[in-house]
Amino acid sequence: MSILNHLLSLDFRFSGFPWLLRHSVQKKRITILMFHQPQPVFFDKALKGLKKRYNIIPFSLYIKALKAPSTILPDRSLILTFDDGWATNFALLPLLIKHQAPVTIFLMAGLTNTRQHPWYYVTKDRPFKESLKKMSDSARIAALKRTGFEEGQIFAERVTLNREEIKAMQKSGLVEFGSHTLTHPILPKCSDSKAAKEIELSKTKTEEFSGIPCNFFSFPNGEYSERDIRLCKKAGYQAAVTLDTGYNTRRTDPFRLKRISVPDNGSISELLVKASGIWAFLKVITGKQKRKRRHSGL
Ligand SMILES: [Zn+2]
Repeated sequence: MSILNHLLSLDFRFSGFPWLLRHSVQKKRITILMFHQPQPVFFDKALKGLKKRYNIIPFSLYIKALKAPSTILPDRSLILTFDDGWATNFALLPLLIKHQAPVTIFLMAGLTNTRQHPWYYVTKDRPFKESLKKMSDSARIAALKRTGFEEGQIFAERVTLNREEIKAMQKSGLVEFGSHTLTHPILPKCSDSKAAKEIELSKTKTEEFSGIPCNFFSFPNGEYSERDIRLCKKAGYQAAVTLDTGYNTRRTDPFRLKRISVPDNGSISELLVKASGIWAFLKVITGKQKRKRRHSGL
């Protein structure tokens, strides 16, 4: 059993530690959560629970604050993001309206409004999936081809949002759209030209869907290199989110924004414990202790 599961089994949510974090470390920091496909019943409860404890703000407000220090951000600012742009996200729109909760959805723009599926969706074999992430991009594509999957392949089921759904979400004024590349490759494994294409063209495509400038980017699998950050800046994005764990401040590098991965279903206790960034906090503490030990020669 992992440490987190141990803590959850003790009903850690009521131990007061997450409360303490929210009212100390998290108070002046900006927390960004990452969902994928939350179940509506769970998400309804999640929004209720999160709204009680945080101030949910649009991603664009935080980016504005990074540029203009006079921009006021509430204490315990929380940003909700969704990676990939799954069709199931559309069912959440009534809940966003009900709770007046702004969110940002990062689209796999090349697969959006099509019946193509992302490569990691076509295999349920976890070790194989993990091995694919470690290969060069061309080796990954070749390995998938051997399983019968080709980029651009059309399936019976549509799994990504379509144009009408994007328009309806945008019309609500509660959903901002960012890019998550065209086809979700692992960017550091891509050639320069492939990475540039995935980063640049997905911006244009997202803008075609939303009708407004696409300013935000999300690195697939949270993986990025210095080159990828350079390409994002060159393409004209204003910010990019990673999966580096932790909280953000008004001085965080806008192209290395930290995010906390949270569950799409299950218990609200687990969601609230994870959203409190307890791991980020423990990491800071253990990191400090390690440094201290190093300095004291132990
Ligand atoms: Zn993704």
